Amino acid sequence: MILDGHIHLTDGDPAPDALLTDLAAAGVGGGVLISQRPACFDRTSPRPAQPPAVRLQHVLDWCAAGMNLYPLFWIDPLEPDALDQVALAVSRGIAGFKVICAHFPPGHPDALRTFRAIADAGRPILFHSGILWDGQPSSQFNRPAGFEALLDVPGLRFALAHISWPWCDELIAVYGKFLNALGRSRAAPVEMFVDITPGTPPIYRQRALTDLFTVGYDVADHVIFGSDCHAPGYNTWWAKEWLQRDAEILTGLDLGQDALDKVQGENLRRFLGLTDQRAERAIPRPGA
Ligand SMILES: [Zn+2]
Repeated sequence: MILDGHIHLTDGDPAPDALLTDLAAAGVGGGVLISQRPACFDRTSPRPAQPPAVRLQHVLDWCAAGMNLYPLFWIDPLEPDALDQVALAVSRGIAGFKVICAHFPPGHPDALRTFRAIADAGRPILFHSGILWDGQPSSQFNRPAGFEALLDVPGLRFALAHISWPWCDELIAVYGKFLNALGRSRAAPVEMFVDITPGTPPIYRQRALTDLFTVGYDVADHVIFGSDCHAPGYNTWWAKEWLQRDAEILTGLDLGQDALDKVQGENLRRFLGLTDQRAERAIPRPGA
């Protein structure tokens, strides 16, 4: 089943049946729904953000009816009650968390404290990475290398979105670093996924996916498709076009249907902890 790992909820009452119809028209069976934005993004919107508990209920209501709709709670890890927000969301059955580092580096001590609580609860974090269209200077917080700080969050599963465009090379290098770190620490391993949501404008797609899948790192179980579409109003045409483009590129790399099925569905379920947690991966070592 094809799953969309990156769908944003906007204002509007939950309408999961209409969404599932739109998804089906794109050949998609479900996916991740990201809650409405936290208050730190108020300057990008004409209306103030809803309180955390309201946003949490909103995303849970969206996902209540859909067997394959998975709720992610978008949290500002620096809010004073962030740990309480994590505990509440987990107790209510949230599937994972979304973070955009718009006003702090990923290694900010207060952010790391929140991330450790999320890891301890066994939930993953989907991070924005790459250029951020938020109308303010924020790129320095979203370069892949900054996420090396997550090596200090034992047991965390996390994904960097958008192949970190335009820093796709840096993302691949950081992925290799996290993979190599698996053999260097006795702490619970930190597992990095790559969310290939565009991001990448079409002219960069071929080279970005080719680099990612042919660099020699073991990526097959850790790449997730997403569309960045919104709900309500899922853009069926957009999702279909990107699914088709990616399928052509990956098939052209001789990856086969099995790899495509993982990227466009099964890897998301592993990221969310819904299927077997461990995927054996070759650990890259220099001179080995
Ligand atoms: Zn997004």
